[in-house]
Amino acid sequence: MKVEQGMKGLLIIDVQNDFCPGGILAAPEGDHVVPVINRLIDKFTIVVASKDWHPRTSVHFQHWPPHCVQNSQGAEFHPELRTEKIQQVFLKGTGDKDDGYSAFEATNLDMNEYLKSKGVTELYVTGLATDYCVKASAMDAAKKGFRTFVVTDAVSAVNVKPDDGQQALEEMQAAAITLVDSSQV
Ligand SMILES: [Zn+2]
Repeated sequence: MKVEQGMKGLLIIDVQNDFCPGGILAAPEGDHVVPVINRLIDKFTIVVASKDWHPRTSVHFQHWPPHCVQNSQGAEFHPELRTEKIQQVFLKGTGDKDDGYSAFEATNLDMNEYLKSKGVTELYVTGLATDYCVKASAMDAAKKGFRTFVVTDAVSAVNVKPDDGQQALEEMQAAAITLVDSSQV
């Protein structure tokens, strides 16, 4: 199989009902990322997404209210997300001892291998939430050798503390991750 080089991939992190307003663990403006991501989708050949996909009981729920339980309505993608354009969904946090903040920890399929087999060298990270799963996924992407971008108007923070999202963006920048606006993609 010939592997193409220089491909750009779009990674959509956890745009699920429980992380959007009305959900159990909402990023207060989580739904604002949906139209931005929907516009970005057409600029990419490779589009993948992750889902937080927890069992009913998990050590993860010692830190967080139970959310994104497998097959629940809260674990569904936001209803306006253009899911028909998503080529592969990666499920993470699937074990009872597993936080699964990073999409690279998905258990249904190895995301690193999948993206590399598609020739992806540049990864654009979007979704929820900036201060947890977006940060963990972008950091892992950079470690695994992808040229990594975070699209700042296509991510949104939980902000347990008011500047958590901003701090996460600064940490990512310090880790050689490039912050871009969706108009620059
Ligand atoms: Zn979770």
